[in-house]
Amino acid sequence: MRITKLTTYRVPPRWMFLKIETDEGVVGWGEPVLEGRARTVEAAVHELSEYLVGQDPSRINDLWQVMYRAGFYRGGPILMSAIAGIDQALWDIKGKVMGQPVYELLGGLVRDKMKVYSWVGGDRPADIINDIKRLREGGFDTFKMNGTEELGIVDSARKVDEAVARIAEIRAAFGHDIEFGIDFHGRVAAPMAKPLLKALEPYRPLFVEEPVLAEQAEYYPRLAEQTAIPLAAGERMFSRFDFKRVFQAGGIAIVQPDLSHAGGITECFKIAGMAEAHDVAFAPHCPLGPVALASCLAVDFVSHNAVLQEQSMGIHYNKGAELLDFVKNKDDFRIEDGYINPLRKPGLGVEIDEERVIEASKNAPDWRNPVWRHADGSVAEW
Ligand SMILES: [Mg+2]
Repeated sequence: MRITKLTTYRVPPRWMFLKIETDEGVVGWGEPVLEGRARTVEAAVHELSEYLVGQDPSRINDLWQVMYRAGFYRGGPILMSAIAGIDQALWDIKGKVMGQPVYELLGGLVRDKMKVYSWVGGDRPADIINDIKRLREGGFDTFKMNGTEELGIVDSARKVDEAVARIAEIRAAFGHDIEFGIDFHGRVAAPMAKPLLKALEPYRPLFVEEPVLAEQAEYYPRLAEQTAIPLAAGERMFSRFDFKRVFQAGGIAIVQPDLSHAGGITECFKIAGMAEAHDVAFAPHCPLGPVALASCLAVDFVSHNAVLQEQSMGIHYNKGAELLDFVKNKDDFRIEDGYINPLRKPGLGVEIDEERVIEASKNAPDWRNPVWRHADGSVAEW
């Protein structure tokens, strides 16, 4: 079997699908995208296609190494997102050829169902209590929300108090019937992470995500020494080599590689194994579409340390399309009591509605995150 063609479709809300075709008619789907930089990743996918067309799609490990190493320059969000989506599509092809779901090819299920959580609130969290009430009726009991709005490197106690008051309200409303993580989203610098974590600790969040930016990772062990809240990070780390440094330094309790940004299934399966060896939990980042989610689940279901799966149904970014809009087998994605079942169809287990993808790609928006500024006019982290 040979790879014959790679086709990319940018679609709303901010995703990109990749279709890899073969000379035997088997087709695989991937989701190579970096939110806000879809066209850049698209160009990278088509450059990498030179290594793929004419090759045997079953040799995923070799093709991965060629894409990673053969171009001399490697790593980073663009190239690793391009490799990620290609890798997903190759696994999809392999599963379809073998007539097995990808998790079977990776050794089989380690759990029966996977815990998933839902985002609540938006960029500027306001009406979170009603969001949680509505989602609980839909079967969710675990949530994630943004922790703060713009925050200066050193900022006022009032902003800390506002952030903490919101969390206190949620605990007061629901007690410990729900669990939630708080995403600092890289908005918090090291000097403010310390007081914020301290003030949030009594409310026992499940975790705090990106307590500081990945480029400030040397603060993770220092912050972890000072708080009992498990710290999470990893959506802006792109390979085993990035994660290696974090595991060596310690401090992170949960790693969150993104299956569409960190080299795909091949790489994230290895990152999960590295995490297990360090007693670190695995909770893939996934505010993206159905192929990205299916790829996460393929690794979650074979990784003993996988604890929690993000998914984008109802997320504030999904303007113009929802997770299941491009999926034919919607029932397979049903969430019950906060869990999702393995996707049992061969390959990644997603039947893509190709006509819908093609139609949607005709009007794909160029999604961008907002540019935030502090009161003095300087750029703020979003
Ligand atoms: Mg995050």
